[in-house]
Amino acid sequence: MAELEPVIGLEVHAQLLTKSKMFCGCRAEYLGLPPNSNTCPTCLGLPGALPVINRAAVEMTIRTALALACRIPEFSKFDRKNYFYPDLPKGYQISQFDLPLSLAGQLEFEVDGQRRACGITRVHLEEDAGTLHHAGEIHTSNFSLVDLNRAGVPLMEVVGEPDLRSPREAPQYLRALRQLLIYLGVNDGNMEQGSLRCDANVSLRPRGQREMGVKVEVKNMNSFRSLEAALTYEVGRQTDLIQRGMTIVQETRGWSELEQATVSQRGKEEAQDYRYFPEPDLPPLKVGRELVEQLKAGLPEPPMRLRDRLLDQYEISAEQVLVLTERPQDAAYFEAVVAAGAPPRAAANWQAGPLQALCKAARVEVERCSISAGELADLVRMVEAGEVSGSTARELLAEAFESGASPAALVTERGLAQVSDAAQMDAWVDDALRQLPKAAADFQAGAERALGPLVGAIRKASGNRANPDLAARLLRERLARPGE
Ligand SMILES: [Zn+2]
Repeated sequence: MAELEPVIGLEVHAQLLTKSKMFCGCRAEYLGLPPNSNTCPTCLGLPGALPVINRAAVEMTIRTALALACRIPEFSKFDRKNYFYPDLPKGYQISQFDLPLSLAGQLEFEVDGQRRACGITRVHLEEDAGTLHHAGEIHTSNFSLVDLNRAGVPLMEVVGEPDLRSPREAPQYLRALRQLLIYLGVNDGNMEQGSLRCDANVSLRPRGQREMGVKVEVKNMNSFRSLEAALTYEVGRQTDLIQRGMTIVQETRGWSELEQATVSQRGKEEAQDYRYFPEPDLPPLKVGRELVEQLKAGLPEPPMRLRDRLLDQYEISAEQVLVLTERPQDAAYFEAVVAAGAPPRAAANWQAGPLQALCKAARVEVERCSISAGELADLVRMVEAGEVSGSTARELLAEAFESGASPAALVTERGLAQVSDAAQMDAWVDDALRQLPKAAADFQAGAERALGPLVGAIRKASGNRANPDLAARLLRERLARPGE
């Protein structure tokens, strides 16, 4: 039997970070509100209520499509996708069928350090449904409670081509897309809370065959880990069926985190089952070329290109670049620190290390914290020049982070500047040698580690202000071993 090849395509739904819902004035932010309190006649689907298109949602979708190198047709329209489910108050979802806002793009992502590209079929706009609450998981619960606070929230769908060839590629594709959406400021990337959701189409075919096998849609994967686990399970399940000579049923299956298995939910609908037809309450959308050009000009540097540029431009490691490009604001802060005179590698260490730890603990973003890029640069330069010790600088950074003071000013104010003055250093070296004659003798006899306590004595005598590198060098000179 020919070896089987998985064929995987992802459909990603992203709630857009607009102020209001897709077709009404209700708030798009719905988490934590009392059930069914964030609703109006339009999003409840009451007779006579009319939808109005949210311009910000259209612009966010076009920006995303442009960042994915999609084509933006001049005309677009909304359609009704008809189906019955308790979370859908109108009995149809307003979506886009044959004239979406964009077509034919691609997404670059990395797998094991290798660049891959996956085609993007389309990016279109629709509205979210409400939420159902069950006791436990849906297929075992005796009841469902309906909350329509989420009904009508703008939902952008990014449909990927079936270009992925292994379950391992899927989370990497999704990571790249998620980061792009965060860069664009159109989605918060929160998979656990469901503002970013991913479904997958999975089929198998003999390697080398072009024709696609029967595809199964897998839903309900709310983390990168569960996405890979669900696809691995599903590929295994289908492989097993095919090898036993059985047929794959076209259907929708849900990933059960509890059972670590995909579970059949329903037969898969075909497009005709949804009886799509143009939404009669909304005019077709004409997307002006000037608007497209204007949105294109305002796009941020994409994450992958930003990473390449930072690697190219500064002497920092790939790991550092990864940390510094988590969000575009992180990279902007780093570049500001370097522009203010800090050496790149040290700047990256201080930002990704001590400063980020302080920001995390205080739950504040680096660009909003009390340490400006210029202040961090001053401190880093002082450490690099040996004017202040690393440990003192770390303490001052933490203090300044709290109080809003400038860390460099604290060094001067407190007289904490590191001492490199020759006469003062010589005196401390003399004291240390007098205090620890055994360590001195041991070092001279070849015990390298005996230097530690001597440097320690100097640091202690100086109140941590003695330059430790200089202290070690002076001790070595003084204790020069015969023959060295
Ligand atoms: Zn509403």
